[in-house]
Amino acid sequence: MILALDLGTTSIRALLIGGDGRCLGMAQQEFRQIFPQPGWVSHDADEIWEVTCQVIPRALAHAHRQASEITAIGITNQRETTVLWERASGRPVHAAIVWQCRRTADLCRRYREAGLGDLVAERTGLVIDPYFSATKIVWLLENVPGLRDRAKAGDICFGTIDSYVLFRLTNGAVHATDPTNASRTMCFDIHRLDWDQELLATFGIPAAILPNVLPSAGLFGHTAAGPLPAGIPVTGIAGDQQAALFGQRGVAVGDIKNTYGTGCFTLFQTGDTAIASHQGLLTTVACDPCGQIAYALEGSVFSAGSAVQWLRDGLQIIGSAPESEALARSVEDTGGVYLVPAFTGLGAPYWDSEARGTLVGITRGTERAHLVRATLEAIAYQTADLVTAMRIDAGHEVQALRADGGAAANSFLMQFQADILGVPVIRPRSTETTALGAAMLAGLAAGFWRNPADLA
Ligand code: ADP
Repeated sequence: MILALDLGTTSIRALLIGGDGRCLGMAQQEFRQIFPQPGWVSHDADEIWEVTCQVIPRALAHAHRQASEITAIGITNQRETTVLWERASGRPVHAAIVWQCRRTADLCRRYREAGLGDLVAERTGLVIDPYFSATKIVWLLENVPGLRDRAKAGDICFGTIDSYVLFRLTNGAVHATDPTNASRTMCFDIHRLDWDQELLATFGIPAAILPNVLPSAGLFGHTAAGPLPAGIPVTGIAGDQQAALFGQRGVAVGDIKNTYGTGCFTLFQTGDTAIASHQGLLTTVACDPCGQIAYALEGSVFSAGSAVQWLRDGLQIIGSAPESEALARSVEDTGGVYLVPAFTGLGAPYWDSEARGTLVGITRGTERAHLVRATLEAIAYQTADLVTAMRIDAGHEVQALRADGGAAANSFLMQFQADILGVPVIRPRSTETTALGAAMLAGLAAGFWRNPADLA
C-alpha cells in the first residue's frame, strides 16, 4: 500500500491506498489557523509536523495495517505557504506565512510599479501577488532580526509545506521540493525548470536557502526512524491542485478539473506547451501521465464554498451547507437576483484585490431561496469565467469538466454548471482526488503501479 499525506490548509490527512486505488484507512486532524492581524494568516510549521506524526499511526490503526506494509509515501500540500527553518535543528525561525495572507500587498505594489510584471510573467507564468511565496520570503528576511545574514551563510532553509515535512521525515537529510510547488514561488523559471537567478537577485533572496527541485514522481529520499520506521522511500510530491488534476487523470491536453472548496481552483492540462495567458490566468507546472513535467493553465476564485458558509454563518439563512441544494431547487430561478461574492477581492481572471461583494436585483418578492440559489449560481458563473478564459487562451474546446471538493456534493450546482458551460460535469465516486493523486505519483515511481494506463 501507499501512504498519502495530504497537508492541507486547515487539516492534515493520512490515507493508505491499496493496489486497486481504494482507501484502506485514513485519519485526519485540524491544526491552528493563526490570524495576527486582519488579512494576515499564519501556521505553525512545527505543529503541522506534529499533527502529521499523529495522523500516520491513526491511519494505520484504522486500516489494521503495519508501517512495514507501506511501499512508498506520496505527499501533497497547500501550495505557496512559506516556511524558513534552521538547517541544523529543523526548527522554524518564524510562523509560516500562508498563501491567503495579504501582508505583502504593499511590497507587491512596489514590484509592480517598478515594472517587474512582464519579467515575472515571462519566467514564472504568474502575476505579482501576495499569494505566491517570493514576497513572503522577502518579508521574513526583512522582519526576522539577523535572518538575512544567516540565510546567506547557508544556515537557513526555505520550503513550502511539502519540503518542510520531507525534511523532518528524513531527519534533515533531504531539502527538496517538486516542480509543481516550485512553480508557485515566483522564483522558478518554468521553461528552464530551474531557479531564476535574475529574479532571486531582484528580490534579494539568497540561493543558499532554496530546496533541490526533483521530479514529482521519483525518489526524494527515505524516512529516518520517527513516526515511521527508517527506510521507507518518499517517491511522490505535488501541490494540491496539480495532485487533484493527476488524481482525476487529467493528463491529456484539454482535460480540465475544478475543485469546489473554500475557493475554486480550475486547471486545464496543456501538455508540453506552456501557454502564456492573455486572459488573466496563470501558467503553471503540472504532471504528464507518468508524473513528469507538463503544463497547465490555472485560475483561482477566492470565494466559492465560503459564500455558502456566509449564508450559514453571516446571514444565517441556512442551517447547513447541504441545505442550500433543496432551497435552490424550491424556486424556478433567482427572480433576477445576482450575487458577486468578491468578499476578499476577485482572483482570476480579474485580479482586483479592492473589489468587494455585490448583491443586485432584489425586489419585494425576493425570498431567502432566491439568495441561496443566486449564491450557488455565482459559484458556477465564476467557474464559467475561468473555463471561458481557458478556451480562448488554449484555443481548445473543453469536452467535460471533472469536479471535486466539498461543494461538488451539491447536485444542483453541478447541473447548473453543466448547463451554463454546455458540457458534462463529471463527479468521481471518491472525492479524495488530491490524496489519490499523490499516491499515484508515489506508486508509479515506486513500481507499485507499473502502467499509467492502469490508473485511469
Ligand atoms: P477546503 O478544502 O477548501 O477547506 P472543502 O473541499 O472541504 O474545502 O469544501 C468545503 C466548502 O464546501 C465549504 O465552504 C462549504 O460551504 C462548501 N460545501 C460543502 N458542502 C456543500 C454543499 N452540499 N453545497 C454547497 N456547498 C457546500
